[in-house]
Amino acid sequence: MTARNVETGTGAAAAPSRVIGSVVGGDGPRIILVAGMHGNEPAGVEAARAVLDRIERRRIPLRGEIIALRGNVRALRQQKRYVAEDLNRLWTEERVAALRGGAGTSVGPEQTEQSELLARFDALIRSARPGAVVVDLHSTSGPGAPFACISDTLRSREIALELPLPLVLGVEEAIHGTLLEHLETEGVPTILLEGGRHDMPATARNLESALWLILRAIDAIDADAVPSLERHRQRLRHAARGLPAIVEVTHRHHVPEGTMFRMRTGLAHFDPVKRGQPLADDEHGPVLAPADGLLLMPRYQLKGADGFFIGRPVRRSWLDLSRWARAARLDRLLPHLPGVSRDPLRPQRLFVDPATARWFTVQLFHLAGFRRLPDREGRFVFTRRIEP
Ligand SMILES: [Zn+2]
Repeated sequence: MTARNVETGTGAAAAPSRVIGSVVGGDGPRIILVAGMHGNEPAGVEAARAVLDRIERRRIPLRGEIIALRGNVRALRQQKRYVAEDLNRLWTEERVAALRGGAGTSVGPEQTEQSELLARFDALIRSARPGAVVVDLHSTSGPGAPFACISDTLRSREIALELPLPLVLGVEEAIHGTLLEHLETEGVPTILLEGGRHDMPATARNLESALWLILRAIDAIDADAVPSLERHRQRLRHAARGLPAIVEVTHRHHVPEGTMFRMRTGLAHFDPVKRGQPLADDEHGPVLAPADGLLLMPRYQLKGADGFFIGRPVRRSWLDLSRWARAARLDRLLPHLPGVSRDPLRPQRLFVDPATARWFTVQLFHLAGFRRLPDREGRFVFTRRIEP
């Protein structure tokens, strides 16, 4: 095994570059780690570095290769979530197409970051053997347990369910333009990890533990290659004790740009909330929970358009049902339902007239492997997820 370019320095003193490090092992998948898509989340960089370092120093046999990249280099340098705009909201199909066409690369710091990252991803994904996986490492501004998010393809699910952490589904439907959404359209399984609060020492350790378990889940390392694999599992199990295994996002509270928003103190993600419970305050007064559920990702930082999310636990049997529905190609039936029509330009995309379609439409489309896009002209829009 050869290791190259593993940084040894720590902290913000050394000017960070795009590549954190890489390790090349034997035959196996390419694993791309992305850390610091948000510049105030350095724990991901620390975790990626710890894993690379350990593989190299302990000569842990690796099948495949790991490449760790920094997301927002400029924001990491300034230790801010972003410089001008959130890098993890720019990955819409339109913007990616424009960047690939050579447009909009020098408009602002995050556009430059995105264009650099996109070029890296395109090259790494194009030259990868089948089985490439991306892990996107994050932390949160509020307190709470670590968890994983995926774009709900079967392969991403399979990997994420190996982690003893809550799996949050539907984030990519509530937030548009995330890297997760982009990589799904590229057909690359992607796991987003939230390690805990930005400033907690446990956060980097949680992310590191999850990385080891993912390497094991995709068979890049043997079970006995890391002596402490069981300790990593126990650490995550302990951090997430008492929480549901699967949660679906049902509501996102949007904070308009430049407006005041302050979460009430003492709330953590996965806290149960009741409909009508005051969760935050904005320029119009108290912000109330719109429904019963679990609070997700309350915003305890100044920046960002996502105030909080509400989710609800999902039974494992629902996931089994949806795997069956996808295998049975339920998607082929959907265009024939009343109120459903195909996008003439993009055949994988379906329009649904909410006046004609039934209440269970969204659930049915989820089961069949579709993702909901923003509504257009009063119609629901769904796109079929690309299974790797
Ligand atoms: Zn983040």
